[in-house]
Amino acid sequence: PLVLGIETSCDETGVGIVRGETLLVDAVASSVEQHARFGGVVPEVASRAHLEAMAPTIERACREAGVRLDDVDALAVTSGPGLMGALLVGVAAAKGLAIALGKPLYGVNHLAAHVAVDQLEHGPLPEPTMALLVSGGHSSLLLVPDVTGDVRPLGATIDDAAGEAFDKVARLLGLPFPGGPHIDRVARDGDPAAIGFPRGLSRPKDLERYRYDFSFSGLKTAVARWVEQRAASGEPVPVADVAASFQEAVVDVLTRKAVAACRSEGVDTLLVGGGVAANSRLRAMAAERCAAAGITLRVPRPGLCTDNGAMVAALGSSMVRRGRAPSALDLPADSSMPVTTVLA
Ligand code: ATP
Ligand code: MG
Ligand code: FE
Repeated sequence: PLVLGIETSCDETGVGIVRGETLLVDAVASSVEQHARFGGVVPEVASRAHLEAMAPTIERACREAGVRLDDVDALAVTSGPGLMGALLVGVAAAKGLAIALGKPLYGVNHLAAHVAVDQLEHGPLPEPTMALLVSGGHSSLLLVPDVTGDVRPLGATIDDAAGEAFDKVARLLGLPFPGGPHIDRVARDGDPAAIGFPRGLSRPKDLERYRYDFSFSGLKTAVARWVEQRAASGEPVPVADVAASFQEAVVDVLTRKAVAACRSEGVDTLLVGGGVAANSRLRAMAAERCAAAGITLRVPRPGLCTDNGAMVAALGSSMVRRGRAPSALDLPADSSMPVTTVLA
C-alpha cells in the first residue's frame, strides 16, 4: 500500500511516504532553531511552527515522491504521546486528508513508530524482537511480538529519559540545545574512562527490583557535582573527558540491560530506536556486545532515529498489511498515550 505518514509530536513536522516497506520520501521541517535560545522546546512555538509547515511539507513530500494525494491508499498520523498542541496540528491535518480523499486513517503510537521505522531499512522485524527505545522523553525495554498490536514493556526509566540526560549534561557543559549530538561529537576527543561516573540501577541489590529499569538523574547530578568541584578548584573543566565518561556510563547500562533482556527472554534480535539511537558510541557498543552474545542487532540509520514522518508511514503501512481496522475519524490526540496502545 501507498501510505502517507504525518508526525508532529514535538518540534519536527514530518511527512513520509512509503510503498509497502519501501521509503519514497521523508520530508522534515524542524523548528529546533526557534527553541534553541530557550534551552528546550517551547510548546506554543512548536504548535505554530507545525501549522505553518504542515501544508508545504505535505506538498513537498508528494512532489519529491512523484505521487498525487489521490494515489495514497491510507493515512497515518502520530496520535501520541507528545505535546498536546503539536499533536493536534498533525491529527487535524490527517483527518482532513482522510475525509477529503475518502481513505482510511491510522492514529499510531509515536514510540511504536520509532521501532517500526527500521523495517524500511532492514525489512520485516523478526517476531519477537527486543526493542531498546531511547529518546528525548522515553527510555524503555520492550518485548515486541508484533509491532502492530502487541508491545510488552519489560522496563523503563524511573526518572529522566536517556535523551533528556544527554540534553541536561550538554547544557551543564555549555553546549547548545539539543545537546545529544554535541556530546556525541565532543566525546570523540575524550577519554571514556577518565571519570568513573555511576551506572544507575546496576548494583546486585538494585537489579533484584529494577532488572530492566533505568535511572539517569543520579548520573546527571554526579556530573554536575564533578564539574562544579573542578570549576571551584580553578582548574579548567575537561569537557571532552566529561562528555565521553558520561556517555560511556549511559551507553554501558543501556546495552548491558538490553543484552541481558534478550538472553533471559530468549530473543535473538535487538532493535535500538529513538533519537538517542543516533549516538555513535551506543551504536558501537551495542554492535560489540550483541556480536559477543550472538544477538542480531538492528539500528536504523541516524536520520531515521530522530523524529520523522517516515516512521509513522512505516507503522501505518504495517497496520494495512496486517489488516488492522483503521482508527475512527474522530480520533483524539493523546499526549500521554501509553506505549502499549499502538493503534488509537
Ligand atoms: P519521544 O520520542 O520520547 O517522544 P522526542 O521525540 O522528543 O521524544 P527524539 O526525536 O526521538 O525525541 O529524540 C531526541 C533526543 O535524542 C534528544 O534528547 C537528543 O539530544 C537525542 N539525540 C539525538 N542525536 C543524538 C546523539 N547523536 N547522541 C545522543 N543523543 C542524541
Ligand atoms: Mg526534535
Ligand atoms: Fe521521538
